[in-house]
Amino acid sequence: MELIAVPAFADNLIWMLHDGREALVVDPGAASPVAAALEDRGLRLGAILVTHHHADHVGGLKELQPLLHGPIWGPAHEKMPVEVRRVEQGARFEVLGLRIEVLDVPGHTAGHIAYVARADGKAPWLFCGDTLFSGGCGRLFEGTPAQMVDSLAKLERLPGDTRVCCAHEYTLSNLRFARTVEPRNQALADYEVRCQALRAEGAWTLPSTIATERAVNPFLRTAEPDVAAAALAHGAASRDVTDVFATLREWKNRF
Ligand SMILES: [Zn+2]
Ligand SMILES: [Zn+2]
Repeated sequence: MELIAVPAFADNLIWMLHDGREALVVDPGAASPVAAALEDRGLRLGAILVTHHHADHVGGLKELQPLLHGPIWGPAHEKMPVEVRRVEQGARFEVLGLRIEVLDVPGHTAGHIAYVARADGKAPWLFCGDTLFSGGCGRLFEGTPAQMVDSLAKLERLPGDTRVCCAHEYTLSNLRFARTVEPRNQALADYEVRCQALRAEGAWTLPSTIATERAVNPFLRTAEPDVAAAALAHGAASRDVTDVFATLREWKNRF
């Protein structure tokens, strides 16, 4: 299995996993970059996974349908522009030899889902849409801080080597905020240097891993004393992880 990031719009990454013949595509917000990536590599489009209803994630579905030789899976509780197989927490299915498990991760949108894809002998791939970003997390458009805290906790419990395939390359701007929250976190400082070098070469910082996110992402580190202290200094009501998370999210919105 090979993982490819297909860029679209300003900063979306449309993830493609393929075995040299067939491809699985996640959140095709635009059709033409996906069609070009398939054609360049001589791949057949075997399946599509959708995490949530935002246009930059579903905008290419209609146009890709004629190329598609398999199903589209999507969230059970969101409006989709085409017919999809509706899935939610606990759903499992196989496609392209991958075992896929669905997680409900409400917060960014009310019905947002994530997919964990596993193949024997490989680290899992997590397709988390706009829930978890490297060094950050999605804005709360439809959900509550408590929901997002639970959703991120579910993702954080995945194995450390899980490859985190976020839907946007937001890493450097997230890390600038993270460094403000946790100026003494050396793993974070080192990671920022590595990511700056990657972006300077024109490479993606993604996929990240769950182990990296545990070490650098303030939204997964709300129980750390330095993170809680920074949140308290910015108006958090208490050290409770939901209060700390809500304060960080608000602070980041204005950052
Ligand atoms: Zn979104
Ligand atoms: Zn998005």
